[in-house]
Amino acid sequence: MSGTHLPGARSGEDPKLPGERQQNEELIRLVMSDPGPAAELAYPALLNGIDYLFSVIDLLDGPDPAPRALKFAVLHLQAATEVLLKACLAGIDWRLVFTKPEEADEISYKTGDFASCGIADTVKRLRQHGVTISPEEKGAITAFSKERNKLQHFGATLSAAAIEARAGVVLEILMRFIDTHLWRGIDADHVDAYFEDMKTIRASVPRIRGYATARMTQLTPELEPFKSTTLRCPACGMWAVVAEVDESHCRLCFTHWEYDTALLVDYAVGVLGLSVKDFLDDDGGAQACPECQRHSLLTEAYLADAPDKPRSFCFNCARPFDGLVTCTRCTLPFQMEGNGDLVCSNCLTAALASD
Ligand SMILES: [Zn+2]
Ligand SMILES: [Zn+2]
Ligand SMILES: [Zn+2]
Repeated sequence: MSGTHLPGARSGEDPKLPGERQQNEELIRLVMSDPGPAAELAYPALLNGIDYLFSVIDLLDGPDPAPRALKFAVLHLQAATEVLLKACLAGIDWRLVFTKPEEADEISYKTGDFASCGIADTVKRLRQHGVTISPEEKGAITAFSKERNKLQHFGATLSAAAIEARAGVVLEILMRFIDTHLWRGIDADHVDAYFEDMKTIRASVPRIRGYATARMTQLTPELEPFKSTTLRCPACGMWAVVAEVDESHCRLCFTHWEYDTALLVDYAVGVLGLSVKDFLDDDGGAQACPECQRHSLLTEAYLADAPDKPRSFCFNCARPFDGLVTCTRCTLPFQMEGNGDLVCSNCLTAALASD
């Protein structure tokens, strides 16, 4: 890495790996020592975030990073995400970074002595305030945040390919956040160094994403016959999970799901960008499949043969359904017959039997 770096960024020391709460407090102190205009607040957080980003691109520099490099890449990318997204949120309103904004007070805020919101709430609040974060981007952010928590207890669970593919997406999001929301706080003396740093980081992102793209290109002929049952992978974000009746796995990152429900929940969270709570609140998350009757049907899923078209998909039968309608009696989805009945065959049979 060359160029004159921003003070603080790229100090040569390993960025520290504080615990979550300690990290929050450190960030909050750095970002929000004074609830003044957003641009000025963002500056220390931006330096800190850029420092972490340099570390991530160093760690993911080659096509086959070692396990230790992957571990630190996840931790540092997660730290960068927290600093930069929260700085953006604080720029909208400093109260929003509190777990409970209605209880926010300025003294706790200035001393950094308060519980700040988690990453899921940060994303939700940014979206509520008009900041665009797509389901794929939210999925990538969520995957890292889950992986970071698992690392603390169980060690790495995502494969190298999944981490590289997801890291590329998250790095792009963070670059966009910096470009749109954070860089204006830099004073004239440091602006050249900032542009130099960003240029270096920006140049590395396509390379990191490129490893996954290159593997996808190799896989294309193998996946071609299965496009109508190929889902985007909740772990790596690539179109490489061929859903199967028994167990399914990703042909690119080799993440493996033993049960249909495991893939279904991961899909809802990692691809559709739902929170586990939102998903479960929604009537248990899945609907009864008209074919196998199992509660393994999502009414929104996307398949590689028509990647933008929402369809119903049963994760147990591993098959898509088009044109399902809701039964007016039992409210379950069913395939409408040519007769145009708005009642499913079960309800119809039951109704006829009771007549
Ligand atoms: Zn995958
Ligand atoms: Zn089914
Ligand atoms: Zn019915």
